[in-house]
Amino acid sequence: MTQEELFKKLIAHSKEYGYIFPSSEIYDGLSAVYDYGQYGTELKNNIKRYWWDAMVKLHENIVGIDSAIFMHPRIWEASGHVGAFNDPLIDNKDSKKRYRADVLLEDYIAKLEEKVEKEVEKGKKKFGDAFDEEQFRATNPNVLRNQKKAEEVRNRMVEALSANDLPGIKQLIIDCEIACPISGTKNWTDVRQFNLMFSTQMGSVSEDANTIYLRPETAQGIFVNFLNVQKTGRMKIPFGIAQIGKAFRNEIVARQFIFRMREFEQMETQFFVRPGEEMKWYEQWKEERMRWHRMLGFGDNMYRFHNHDKLAHYANAAADIEFNFPFGFKEVEGIHSRADFDLGNHQKFSGKKIQYFDPETHESYVPYVVETSIGVDRMVLLVLSAAYTEEKLENGEERVVMRIPPILAPVKLAVLPLVKKDGLPEKAREIMNELKFEFNCQYDEKDSIGKRYRRQDAIGTPFCITIDHQSLEDNTVTIRHRDNMRQERVAIKDLRGIMDDKVSMKKALQAI
Ligand code: ATP
Repeated sequence: MTQEELFKKLIAHSKEYGYIFPSSEIYDGLSAVYDYGQYGTELKNNIKRYWWDAMVKLHENIVGIDSAIFMHPRIWEASGHVGAFNDPLIDNKDSKKRYRADVLLEDYIAKLEEKVEKEVEKGKKKFGDAFDEEQFRATNPNVLRNQKKAEEVRNRMVEALSANDLPGIKQLIIDCEIACPISGTKNWTDVRQFNLMFSTQMGSVSEDANTIYLRPETAQGIFVNFLNVQKTGRMKIPFGIAQIGKAFRNEIVARQFIFRMREFEQMETQFFVRPGEEMKWYEQWKEERMRWHRMLGFGDNMYRFHNHDKLAHYANAAADIEFNFPFGFKEVEGIHSRADFDLGNHQKFSGKKIQYFDPETHESYVPYVVETSIGVDRMVLLVLSAAYTEEKLENGEERVVMRIPPILAPVKLAVLPLVKKDGLPEKAREIMNELKFEFNCQYDEKDSIGKRYRRQDAIGTPFCITIDHQSLEDNTVTIRHRDNMRQERVAIKDLRGIMDDKVSMKKALQAI
């Protein structure tokens, strides 16, 4: 199965098993907007809890807030979003399709690079053991031509983008003879800057109307509350403020399911430090956030850091944590050293002094900040794509199993009476009523036990508890483990302790 097929299956599975639905589906959907179903919501809540506890509960010097989505419009001028949160877009006049001009060029460069690699592969096959790759790359005319072209296009693109030279970007698209993949023509409009912020009007009377924005990130809600939190919480630098909340971006090309949405959720921490100490904290947060990811057990080789070459308008150092999604390594989280860009600008734009008096150095200063920013939905996609497994069993049957880490699984255990009679359902209900206060349980008595196990596998329930006739005699049940399908008999009175050991977040949190 190719990665593309796997991804398609995952999207279908997410819908079929109540994880993720297209938004407004009965009205044919709304592009790049999704709803979470009954299991998706539980998974999302568990991811948020894992993050919140790791950040807020475990760090004495990090506190959490919940700021409003609507904010004063000047905030987005101060943050640079009104002026610089743009993507260059271009339309094809024949297909009427809209593209990100930089993405068209990136794809073109990627094709040239692919040609180079194909040529090298050809050489390898042709020359066998005698193949000297270094020499081949340095001398083969096709390799050299395509490499040179790729470099030239990249340099021109970076130059034009940095100088905001929109006619220059269009000229490059024309010079490269890039055609629209839909119409096949090169009939392009001019390149325009497209601001990614959604705007709306506030105020009931039109004359009073005031353009406000749906926040494109949660971070600014933290910055504008810096003084409130620092003073009321008597926070001493270094300290952090964390927040989970919705963000909105009018993405030009929204693809890849919940990877790039127009309405999504972020989990962000702004960690305030002494100027000059930011690089130490930046490195520390990179490592700590990577440990948080790796603790989920999907394999260390599935993650990597990607350092930014071209820094955003606010950053003096930035790295992404990338995960190996079915469509390749892509960003799931960003760690950014933002210096005093945000607090400094809010001080300037609001006219209010935003400074911290450091009792150790007896100095006042605008703190520097190191940000960690992760998308909840991207994290959901990460978990689902890493968990989705198709398996052929020894008896020839096939099963789809979601190997979601037990601490994140939507349903922790299914309680299943072997048959629907002889007092087994009553016994099962008794057990469920004991356990449901601590664990998300699901009761199921319909269909054969085998079918019920398959249903739970497809949801990703890590444990099934089966109540049979022996249970009535000696108060024992079987626990069936999702991943290896092993069954063990245990006393009902021990269930709570066993489950707690397996699904509690404590161990993962201790190990970060
Ligand atoms: P990208 O390069 O993928 O557009 P970005 O660098 O603009 O992302 P940030 O502004 O650093 O992203 O946002 C922090 C995090 O928020 C990202 O790492 C990602 O997990 C999440 N995120 C950003 N945009 C979206 C989106 N449109 N849909 C879902 N998640 C998003």
